[in-house]
Amino acid sequence: MKKHILILTIFLANFAMGQSYWQQKVSYTMDIDFDDTKHQFKGTQTLVYTNNSPDELDKVFYHLYFNAFQPESMMDVRSRTIKDPDSRVGDRISKLKPEEMGYQKINSLKMNGRKVNYTIVGTILEVELKKTIKPGESVTFDMNFEAQVPIQIRRSGRNSKEGVDYSMTQWYPKMSEYDREGWHANPYVGREFHGVWGDFDMTIHMNEKYTIGGTGVLQNPLDIGKGYSNVEAEPKVDKSGKLSWHFVAKNVHDFAWAADPDYKHDIKTLNNGTKMHFFYQTDTLVENWEKCQDYAVETFEYVNKNYGEYPYSDYSIIQGGDGGMEYPMATLITAHGSFGGLVSVIVHESLHSWYQGMMATDESKYPWMDEGFTSYVQHEAMDFIYGNEKVNSHLGSHRNYQYLVKKDLQEPLTTHADHYKLNMTYGISVYSKGEVFLDQLSYIIGREDFMVGMKEYYNQWRFKHPTPSDFKKVMEQASGIELDWYLEQFIGTTNFIDYGIDSISECDKKTTRIHLQKIGDMPMPLDLVVTLKNGKTRAYNIPLTIMRGAKTKSFSNKNYTVTSEDWPWTNPSFTLCIDEKMENIEKIEIDPSLRLSDMNRSNNIFPRKVETEEAK
Ligand SMILES: [Zn+2]
Repeated sequence: MKKHILILTIFLANFAMGQSYWQQKVSYTMDIDFDDTKHQFKGTQTLVYTNNSPDELDKVFYHLYFNAFQPESMMDVRSRTIKDPDSRVGDRISKLKPEEMGYQKINSLKMNGRKVNYTIVGTILEVELKKTIKPGESVTFDMNFEAQVPIQIRRSGRNSKEGVDYSMTQWYPKMSEYDREGWHANPYVGREFHGVWGDFDMTIHMNEKYTIGGTGVLQNPLDIGKGYSNVEAEPKVDKSGKLSWHFVAKNVHDFAWAADPDYKHDIKTLNNGTKMHFFYQTDTLVENWEKCQDYAVETFEYVNKNYGEYPYSDYSIIQGGDGGMEYPMATLITAHGSFGGLVSVIVHESLHSWYQGMMATDESKYPWMDEGFTSYVQHEAMDFIYGNEKVNSHLGSHRNYQYLVKKDLQEPLTTHADHYKLNMTYGISVYSKGEVFLDQLSYIIGREDFMVGMKEYYNQWRFKHPTPSDFKKVMEQASGIELDWYLEQFIGTTNFIDYGIDSISECDKKTTRIHLQKIGDMPMPLDLVVTLKNGKTRAYNIPLTIMRGAKTKSFSNKNYTVTSEDWPWTNPSFTLCIDEKMENIEKIEIDPSLRLSDMNRSNNIFPRKVETEEAK
């Protein structure tokens, strides 16, 4: 009897845990001794790992990203075999000499003071545990490691094209994520990242000539002395000629940094007190760097107000890397392009502080959730800061997405980031179709409820790992509309949208019938705007039956709106009767807001215009 009760208790506890959200926790303390003559460093890492899952773990995995920069690595082979390789990578990895390669070597690894067995397979360290980690248990891993910084090929490395000495991203042995979906020991093939939430306490000993910018908050500016944040004190250089930089970052899932002897460091402060740091080389385009700072501040103020507040005390925009890449509390960007390009990359990468930094989606499995969402808010923010008043800020992304459809190059957005057949398909799918996903969502549920939902997504999911279903559920709660079908069709399939107005006919003297057609496989609700000959407009919304509701706000026309009967998606046609005389109708248009990514807009307007280029 007692045994039965025990089993029942365990069952109920597991059942309750299975129902609720959990995530693992890490707490890293690292000490890094950097040798800038050999481009190598030695490190110690103490990692307190807490298993908050309901599962007993008999192994763990670490990422050793630098090992990707060796001939015949998965990244190398993939880059030499994909049809459209990234020009930054190409066949460069295959030609690396030993002193140019990257590596991470593990010299020792213990769990709770006892040695554990491990194997290194490319960029993954597989660790077999002698004792399992029980649910709720915290264990300590102690590691000694050494590494060589590769020449800059992708994201991290030494001597970037713009002359930044060290771009230190994906640079330390990093615990893989174990989440509700299991382990994510994803080899470093190209993209991208997923990490365990936790705290970082980092000390970096480096030649005194370098300035370091990175994730977290510098704890000892007085030791660094002159030059850093206008500190007046004399730098505390040790007998080997090094300064010790001590950074702490709390509640983040990665730590990145960069170092260069020529960095200038400026600070701006936001209304809420967040300090924005800018680290850039003084030999180029200083004027652009000075000018762009106000745009960065304005972006943060705009996003703080509309999408949820940036909660950390600091954010650093650092020249480095090979384009733009997001990290918690920091970004590394290149800056030799135009001023507009610099603003655009700063806005984009800063916004990743929300979509990936805080709402930490698995970038490998759901890259459209961080790149697409970031691109969506980027274009909203940029139109705001430049004062543009466009009908739709996202038309460029609609065009890109529609190009993929027309070229028949689509792959479903459920594709893993490394597995797209072409880099181009990955790019357009993840950035542009991901952005269109949100633009259309604002069309389906209405702009007001969409904005409520985006803030609610931040409230419910910041500092966590949301999945597509988690996001969908928040949006369903915000709008009262069921969205299963939208996620399933637009993300899980390559079905596309095409609706058309076939014809109109007279019902009786006072009313008119509009005959509509569903031509594409993807179902969508329709906004229909009727313009009368007297210049007045009437707006209609035709919901889908599977939405189990309809938007209540955000119609195309604020003066007069009607929600019609709903359209079962199985029906290829639909007739809408409107209380207007046929002779009074000037024009009928499906979705004048252009948020519906309709593949053939020529049949969206009645009477039809002469066939456009797009329709052919
Ligand atoms: Zn991005």
